[in-house]
Amino acid sequence: MHSIQMVDLKRQYTRIKAEVDAGIREVIDNTAFINGKAVTDFAGNLSKYLGSKYVIPCANGTDALQIAMMSLNFQPGDEIIAPSFTYIATTEVIALLRLKTVFVDVDAQTFCIDPQAIEKAITPKTKAIVPVHLYGQAANMEAIMDIARRHNLYVIEDNAQAIGSDYTFSNGTVKKTGTIGTIGATSFFPSKNLGCYGDGGAIFTDDETLASRLKMIANHGQSTRYYHDMVGCNSRLDSIQAAVLNVKLKHLDAYIAARISAAEVYDSAFANQSKIKTPYRAPYSNHVFHQYTLILEGVDRDGLNKFLAEKNIPSMIYYPVPAHRQKMFKSLGGNEYKLEVTDWLTTRVISLPMHTELTTEQLTYITDNVLEYINETP
Ligand SMILES: *Cc1c(COP(=O)(O)O)cnc(C)c1O
Repeated sequence: MHSIQMVDLKRQYTRIKAEVDAGIREVIDNTAFINGKAVTDFAGNLSKYLGSKYVIPCANGTDALQIAMMSLNFQPGDEIIAPSFTYIATTEVIALLRLKTVFVDVDAQTFCIDPQAIEKAITPKTKAIVPVHLYGQAANMEAIMDIARRHNLYVIEDNAQAIGSDYTFSNGTVKKTGTIGTIGATSFFPSKNLGCYGDGGAIFTDDETLASRLKMIANHGQSTRYYHDMVGCNSRLDSIQAAVLNVKLKHLDAYIAARISAAEVYDSAFANQSKIKTPYRAPYSNHVFHQYTLILEGVDRDGLNKFLAEKNIPSMIYYPVPAHRQKMFKSLGGNEYKLEVTDWLTTRVISLPMHTELTTEQLTYITDNVLEYINETP
């Protein structure tokens, strides 16, 4: 049996090696390292895949979120509503821009921002909502867009973990996650569902004016070289990464299907286990399983993590400390929040290996060992 990893990038690469190597070779042969054809092609390909009018590639997912926030003319002190149960980047950029992060709780089933909690957190200073489609499960965007419309708020979707997921509205309209709000942001960090071989990110919008602002901000505030209209930053997707992404985008739907099949194997092995709650699938979207995350009830989580590690099965806690409890947010009022579901989940979630290369043999070995620990330890 191949060794089990949280994400097996090596075996995935082996299958597409010829294509990827040729793409990288071409960039080097043409020495078009910055803003080369591979980047323009990728922006076009991703725009087509997502059905988003504009795709602006950038250096990483954190920059994508930051540039999105910079484009909306927020003023210091403006309030941005975001979940605390997420990767730190989501709320770190809000603080970096001297905006106020208003942390709200998540829904216990979807792990995503709770629309009712958003509604309660709105004040006259609220400017935007940042839903995160955590672990590959979409937030309730229909409810969130409805709140945004009623309160005249922007919506910035953190789509770093859910690229490729389809969201179905009650009127039957289907949209890709990340293309529903005002702006979508994503990451191509290697372990993401669409990952490159280094850092990368992108921003999506259907709004032409916003798209040109986003493009300018990512490029030192210029649209004409050496004429800088606004303060921006330097955030580019490099051509070699774009060449990798052009190959992997073609496989994204197959990668998602492989993740869903692995999740289904886990689900059936853990069905009817009172101490394990398998991931909920909201009826409005397809879960694309960036992570396969269980909620444990009455199980020693650290004990399970150690037991699995002894059997050469990695497992991870995403995330051990929610954003509002990080030292980073201490002087910014993080302690004032009481987020019951977030705190509850933080102590009970555990993520099992999830990637495109899991074999039946590996999955059986993982589930057998999880069940052995769950059922044989008091
Ligand atoms: C990975 C991730 C980011 C940040 O992406 P980077 O490319 O690492 O900067 C932001 N938000 C979420 C939810 C993520 O998972």
